[in-house]
Amino acid sequence: MRAQCNARVSEVETAMVGKQIAIIGGGPAGLMAAEVLSAAGHAVTVYDRMPSFGRKLLLAGKSGLNLTHAEDFEHFTRRFGVASERLRPALEAFPPEELRAWALALGTETFVGSSGRVFPMAMKASPLLRAWLSRLAAQGVAFRTRHAWIGFSASCVLFDTPEGRIKVEADATVLALGGASWPRLGSVGEWVPSLRQIGVPVTDFRPANCGFDVAWSAIFSERHAGAPVKSVIATSPAGRIPGEFVVTASGIEGSLVYAHAASLRDSLERGQVADLLLDLAPGRSERNLAVDLARQDGKASFSTRLRKGARIDGVKAALLREGLPDVGRFGPGQLAAAIKALPIPLLRPRPIAEAISSAGGVGWDGIDNGYMLLARPGVFVAGEMLDWEAPTGGYLLTACLATGRAAARGVGAWLG
Ligand SMILES: Cc1cc2nc3c(=O)[nH]c(=O)nc-3n(C[C@H](O)[C@H](O)[C@H](O)COP(=O)(O)OP(=O)(O)OC[C@H]3O[C@@H](n4cnc5c(N)ncnc54)[C@H](O)[C@@H]3O)c2cc1C
Repeated sequence: MRAQCNARVSEVETAMVGKQIAIIGGGPAGLMAAEVLSAAGHAVTVYDRMPSFGRKLLLAGKSGLNLTHAEDFEHFTRRFGVASERLRPALEAFPPEELRAWALALGTETFVGSSGRVFPMAMKASPLLRAWLSRLAAQGVAFRTRHAWIGFSASCVLFDTPEGRIKVEADATVLALGGASWPRLGSVGEWVPSLRQIGVPVTDFRPANCGFDVAWSAIFSERHAGAPVKSVIATSPAGRIPGEFVVTASGIEGSLVYAHAASLRDSLERGQVADLLLDLAPGRSERNLAVDLARQDGKASFSTRLRKGARIDGVKAALLREGLPDVGRFGPGQLAAAIKALPIPLLRPRPIAEAISSAGGVGWDGIDNGYMLLARPGVFVAGEMLDWEAPTGGYLLTACLATGRAAARGVGAWLG
């Protein structure tokens, strides 16, 4: 079989224990697998279809790089929905405090923000990624860019490269090909047919941590696109969650929307109504609002009564008018009720290409506890290409890094 391949992962002869390992996908999951396997003495090469590694990690750094979360670990492990139990051993082996120690060893000191989210002091990813790639190179990891994995041929892995198609021989392979959001950063989900073809169960990708379309009127969209809606509480089947979001030309997006996104997306997929219910005045009771609104001068304009009686103006007042066109004629009680529970009817999630992450991917029934594909022994999977999802808050990167480690340990155990 081996004679069919026209290259080995590495020409370097490894020590007795060392094997040839191909890691395909140079994002956080793949790089973490490379770290563990090269430290164990294997000859590791990381391949990526893009001209450089870790592009999505770098983009995540643009919004501060939320590496992990400092909440109670039990709570933390339950953030991954139905995949929580399967992910638990990987998370236990690489919990948030260990992730912070790992980042510190790479020169990235972290801090816990007010919401419990953990960020690098530098609030960006480039110093961490630079130090990580240097450390991996010093550990003997080889890197190949512009190598797009297209499948298997007998025991070899196949790549399309600028020099043409090549077959590479490896003792074990880790696929860390990412999900399907932000395809211009490299993760395009093109691997799905190749894995399905060899019998790997793969659930269709869906947007996660995404925005939604809303049927705004042209005038509302024109005037308020880009406006932040701060200090509100939003309710959906996901619960009652405080935070803020942004009005866009076509709908809504932002951290508070992402926190509700999975349950709202699921409702829409089931053909159900998906309303995000807004409390525009979280600090005040409905009764208290009604009393204050009733005290306002009946001859004053609606905007003035709303501003003076409920301290609501700007985009929040516009949301009320947009959702309830005759709100100006509401009495104090009805207006107070609308302020405390304004429904925003959602049409559909924004396309997956715009989502922070994706749901779907390789099914848990297609891998063993060492993250090896049952349909292809010797091939392991890690990161966002697995079928799990989580809200924003550092859960995504933590699980990608943790499953990268778990898959590497699976490789080690399989190679004996
Ligand atoms: C705007 C944005 C902000 C984010 N912010 C955060 C945050 O603050 N905190 C957080 O926890 N998460 C964040 N995320 C999510 C996080 O970045 C991802 O979950 C994480 O990068 C996924 O890691 P991965 O290694 O599984 O995949 P990726 O990072 O997507 O890496 C996969 C790699 O595989 C390569 N690849 C794909 N197909 C092939 C192929 N056929 N052949 C060769 N190579 C291939 C790709 O080029 C890519 O380099 C953010 C995401 C986005 C889009």
